[in-house]
Amino acid sequence: MTARTTPQPFQQPPHFGGVLRNYVNGQFVESGKCFDNINPVDGSLINQVSEASREMVDQAVMAAQAALAGEWAALSDNQRSALMHKVADGIEARFDEFVAAEMADTGKSLWQASNIDIPRGAANFRVFADLAKTRSSECFHTETADGQQALNYAVNKPLGVVAVIAPWNLPMLLLTWKLAPAMAVGNAVIAKPSEDTPATATLLAEVMHDAGVPAGAFNLVHGFGPDSAGEFLSQHKDIDAVTFTGESKTGSAIMKAAADNVKALSFELGGKNAAIIFDDADFDAAVEGTAKSVFTNGGQVCLCTERVYVQRPVFEKFVQALKQKAQALNIGWPQDPDTDMGPLISRAHQQKVLSYYQLAKDEGAKVVTGGGIPQFGDERDNGAFVEPTIFTGLAETARSVKEEVFGPVCHIAPFDTEEQAIAMANDSDYGLAATVWTTSLQRAHRVAPKMETGIVWVNTWYLRDLRTPFGGVKLSGIGREGGVHSLSFYSEPMNICIKLN
Ligand code: NAD
Repeated sequence: MTARTTPQPFQQPPHFGGVLRNYVNGQFVESGKCFDNINPVDGSLINQVSEASREMVDQAVMAAQAALAGEWAALSDNQRSALMHKVADGIEARFDEFVAAEMADTGKSLWQASNIDIPRGAANFRVFADLAKTRSSECFHTETADGQQALNYAVNKPLGVVAVIAPWNLPMLLLTWKLAPAMAVGNAVIAKPSEDTPATATLLAEVMHDAGVPAGAFNLVHGFGPDSAGEFLSQHKDIDAVTFTGESKTGSAIMKAAADNVKALSFELGGKNAAIIFDDADFDAAVEGTAKSVFTNGGQVCLCTERVYVQRPVFEKFVQALKQKAQALNIGWPQDPDTDMGPLISRAHQQKVLSYYQLAKDEGAKVVTGGGIPQFGDERDNGAFVEPTIFTGLAETARSVKEEVFGPVCHIAPFDTEEQAIAMANDSDYGLAATVWTTSLQRAHRVAPKMETGIVWVNTWYLRDLRTPFGGVKLSGIGREGGVHSLSFYSEPMNICIKLN
């Protein structure tokens, strides 16, 4: 591991030292109660965030309902699509501010924020605006008992008021992944970003405002989960659907809160993703790809690999090669163009990841590399960094092999046969993603569909086409997002039956 010591000039994010406000009914509003927004690189205060009260959430719901009965609902599909494109243009016009805000909140690298997070934020609005405009609906000519005919056709209607509750790992990317399709098909939305990453959502509210999105169609409330905005939204009787990305246990709490009002739910939850490396794989590509899938964003992508299974003939060589990759990662200042990995999101999450490092050691793991905190000798020692870490030697039943850590860590285990690899990969309560490395076409086609996950990558990782179905099975989620799958969650087909004579 290389720890860089020279901080580069850093563009302060918008609202630095100020207060991030809520956006309700077309107005930026404060509640009088604030919480701190902390930079995980050095523990410094970026700004304060106004925490939405229950009354403010109620006002957002009423504003959303009014939008659904007013100006927002009156827009034609083409007008709404054009407005979503304007929002994408607005994000790009303030690109550097979005990048600075995302970097300050998360500590992620300049490369990642400017090549992945913010571009995908804009792309989400464009992709779903176009998809919604070109969408078709079902139509059946029905023969009736009296020898006549009827015409059945479906009209796609928005669900109504949709609460969008987002996590901190890809704040802009994941929030817009839900907001864009929900708005593109005409819902009114209330966004709640993570309390750890409130900044890009606030800038997005400014972009929505400047683009002329009608009041109430987009609302933003800041806050936490329990006894705060997250819970107020999921319990709210006038919210029609909750779309959520985050931890599986939070999904369970939201499901309970939403049960009384029987809301539509879409859940993208946690993972404990496996990679299988067969001995016929392109070795270098498998090492490179697995290093990316374990360490990208400090392992804080739901699709990251935490369990690696390697066929025995190449096991030792693979462990050593992945160790070299981990040790070559540049850890440090997000603004340094050479930085590969920043801090974790917070000191609290750092403690959680470190507790799993300790648990793995207590469970008898061999530490191949890492296992602790990097030392910098500067302000970064107040940050939330951990070392990229590789373990071997654990039983498959060990808690640290079973539970999601959400950090830059993996356990590597050997296997002998294809059947054994499939069984080990599938022996998980989670089922989000899996990766298979092989040069055998037959094996790829044989193994991929046997994975008990929503997504399988073969000889690549995190290659995304926004039109494809995305989601998990088991504890990893309910429903699918992406392309028409998102459009169908965020709208409801109503059938109209007309008797023809
Ligand atoms: P989290 O569940 O702690 O929080 C996510 C959001 O839910 C936050 O906005 C939080 O304030 C809110 N929240 C918390 N408790 C709540 C409650 N009781 N009611 C309503 N809202 C509540 O998740 P996180 O720590 O922000 O994100 C990391 C997790 O997200 C990991 O488990 C990761 O695997 C998962 N994730 C999944 C996907 C996916 O697509 N499957 C993508 C990214 C992250």
